[in-house]
Amino acid sequence: MRGLRTILVEQNDLGSGTSSRSSRLIHGGLRYLEQGEFGLVLEANRERRILQRIAPHLVWPLPFVFPIHRGDRISRWQLAAGMMLYDILALFRNVRPHRLLGKRRMLEAEPMLRDRGLLGGARYYDAQCDDARLVVATARSAIHQGALVANYMAVRSLERTAGRVVGAQLEDRLTGERGVVRASVVVNATGPWADRVRRMEDAGAAPLLQPTKGVHVVVDRSRLDHRDAVAFTSPIDGRVMFVLPWGKLSYIGTTDTDTGEPPDELSVNTDDIVYLLRSANARFPSARLSVDDVRASWAGLRPLLADSDSRLASSRSREHALVKGSGGMLTVVGGKLTTYRSMSAEVVDHAMRELRHREGRQRRMEARTDEDPLPGGETPDLSQFRERGLELGIPADSVDHLLRHYGTEAAGIFNLGGADRRLLRRLLEPHPAIEAEVIHAVRRELAQTVEDVLVRRFHLYYEHPDQGASVAQRVAELMGQELGWDAPQIEAEAERYLRFVDQERR
Ligand SMILES: Cc1cc2nc3c(=O)[nH]c(=O)nc-3n(C[C@H](O)[C@H](O)[C@H](O)COP(=O)(O)OP(=O)(O)OC[C@H]3O[C@@H](n4cnc5c(N)ncnc54)[C@H](O)[C@@H]3O)c2cc1C
Repeated sequence: MRGLRTILVEQNDLGSGTSSRSSRLIHGGLRYLEQGEFGLVLEANRERRILQRIAPHLVWPLPFVFPIHRGDRISRWQLAAGMMLYDILALFRNVRPHRLLGKRRMLEAEPMLRDRGLLGGARYYDAQCDDARLVVATARSAIHQGALVANYMAVRSLERTAGRVVGAQLEDRLTGERGVVRASVVVNATGPWADRVRRMEDAGAAPLLQPTKGVHVVVDRSRLDHRDAVAFTSPIDGRVMFVLPWGKLSYIGTTDTDTGEPPDELSVNTDDIVYLLRSANARFPSARLSVDDVRASWAGLRPLLADSDSRLASSRSREHALVKGSGGMLTVVGGKLTTYRSMSAEVVDHAMRELRHREGRQRRMEARTDEDPLPGGETPDLSQFRERGLELGIPADSVDHLLRHYGTEAAGIFNLGGADRRLLRRLLEPHPAIEAEVIHAVRRELAQTVEDVLVRRFHLYYEHPDQGASVAQRVAELMGQELGWDAPQIEAEAERYLRFVDQERR
């Protein structure tokens, strides 16, 4: 949008790193109030408003309750003060202002909550998002503005001229082909991998990150029978945690532990699961969740900034930093999904200054990233699109699923189904996804593998008990039609997905 020629490369699928393993909240960050990070909360609240406007299908308001029990780390008056401050830092422009609830009102709102020791609490609002799809939509909006975007394209080393970083050696991980791309400014925005890429610039670069691991588990929503999102403090260590609704499922998170695990070998272990289930059971005692209730799980590494005093993992800052390395590469680390847009703007401001300084290039345009909708986010009113889906004979729950995932772009999927009615078939009952979505994922959303489609484009992996294993072959066939795969490759791609599911289950 600022008139720069831009290329973005991602070594795996877009969003496959931390950004598809978050708590899926676009939030002011209630817990950052405790750490006194008011600037961050103010900025995050502003971003929440913007993202709900530019991508209403990907970021939607979410009501929360926050119950307080006797003996909790946070008292009722602390919660009341925090809630007041949260509304002030949202400039009173959140969905609705918070409300304090007495015990009776809290139990009316969430009857499954533990009655014993319940003192009351509050109702407040934040937003939930589809994290993986938000990443893809953002990259696609860059493509619409002329950027080149390639997934499965890894940076293997950096190109230098007179010590300055002037580009990168790339490897196409699907074909093994290698090539060089040159650039006036190189930005390293690789989250938990940032220090690894920095060492390509300077083998002795001091680490910027001290990551922590966060795990979520998915259970059937009926097991907790909650209506809204529930925030609470874990009775184990007093951390703020969430039980979050996701259609007929709920996810519980998150842990926050120091780890030495490399970002590509992150795993969920029994201690993580026990911590999450014990914490949730303490608030929902009749649920008696056990390991057998866990339908899926995910683990992510928070790319947190290292700091000199060794504060506890969960109180380390979420602020970001922009660092210029010895070869001039810009590294951006820290931050949150919620603040990605303002972080990016800051990085591009810096790049523009570099270019002006070095090459005398003038800043050309203002970016309208706070106004231009992301693909599918042109309007929140999708009623006319719903009519079209129903006219085609698509079941109502599939129509709603399409509108919720694709916004106005659902129209393109209806058109695919209109042209070839076989594509209106559901992929795997009872999940509402239909076959046309696979074609859309390849043509429009840069999906290259069965995992891209089933895990990140429509989350069937997390949302179906079979984790999509039984449709891997069908998805590979549909993708093969688009990508020109022959029969052995279709077989191999389906096989690769089954191996992935098997490994994750283990
Ligand atoms: C458990 C958990 C819960 C969270 N919940 C929330 C939340 O609810 N809300 C919120 O706002 N934030 C949340 N966060 C924080 C947020 O998810 C992260 O700050 C954000 O996703 C980081 O994005 P990123 O692009 O920096 O990193 P990533 O998403 O990890 O992206 C970095 C990418 O760089 C790629 N890469 C690495 N090396 C190379 C290379 N050599 N060549 C090419 N590509 C490379 C990787 O493959 C990766 O995809 C959470 C984080 C965690 C772990």
